[in-house]
Amino acid sequence: MGFIVDETPYPGGKESARVFCVRAENPSAMTYTGTNTWIIAEAESPECIVIDPAPAGQHVQNVLDACIDQGLRVGAVVCTHVHPDHTEGAMELADMTGTRVYAPFDGTLQPGTFQPVENGPVLEVVALPGHSSDSVGLIYPADGSMFVGDVIFNHGPTVVYYPDGNLTEYMDSLDKIEQLVKTQNIKVLYPGHGYPITDPLDIIEATRAHRLDRLQQIKDALVSGVAHDADALVDAVYVGLDPNLRDAAFRSVKAQLLYLDGKGE
Ligand SMILES: [Zn+2]
Repeated sequence: MGFIVDETPYPGGKESARVFCVRAENPSAMTYTGTNTWIIAEAESPECIVIDPAPAGQHVQNVLDACIDQGLRVGAVVCTHVHPDHTEGAMELADMTGTRVYAPFDGTLQPGTFQPVENGPVLEVVALPGHSSDSVGLIYPADGSMFVGDVIFNHGPTVVYYPDGNLTEYMDSLDKIEQLVKTQNIKVLYPGHGYPITDPLDIIEATRAHRLDRLQQIKDALVSGVAHDADALVDAVYVGLDPNLRDAAFRSVKAQLLYLDGKGE
């Protein structure tokens, strides 16, 4: 139970009759095995929706080639949130295909029913702030799935990206995903990085437990005399931290201090 350690990096590929992933070759401490770009389409329409085509350049060409291979035209480009590893190729792909970009950060993607392509996928957009203030989930009822951007991963916790990210909002978003999974017949969550989440309730619980553990560690460190200072707390709590993740840990601790202060702890 809990987060799942990968034996091999997620390769991408066909996940269902409607969903295909092209994984970008941009692995890093922050992007894990690379960004997942999702291509989704209904049998009734040759036009697909592309979610999170990034980075720009070769990957966008690879996404376009994958669409053409499957006899699909790009009908719309969608971003789950503002971070560059999800948005960088969006305008490029839209320009190459004569389509447009829908994104939460500029108001073109709003909560509610979203069907940008005639006879194409019908999605339900829900706000899931916390990792970033603009993060959204895209429920795909016909597929029994939901695209979750960087809100939740199969392999481990995400970063609450202070100051734009907010831990109180993040915990509420986890509750919201849990409710949606339980009530909307969602069997799989498709994340922005790593493997699809095929046991959503278990991974939601692992994510929540991880956040609460970290909060307890911060509280314990403060009680033991560590200064109310994010740098000092990163040193105390994130022992053996990869230096490439220090900025993320710093932002995460800032978000946790804000959360604890807000709760009067
Ligand atoms: Zn992100």
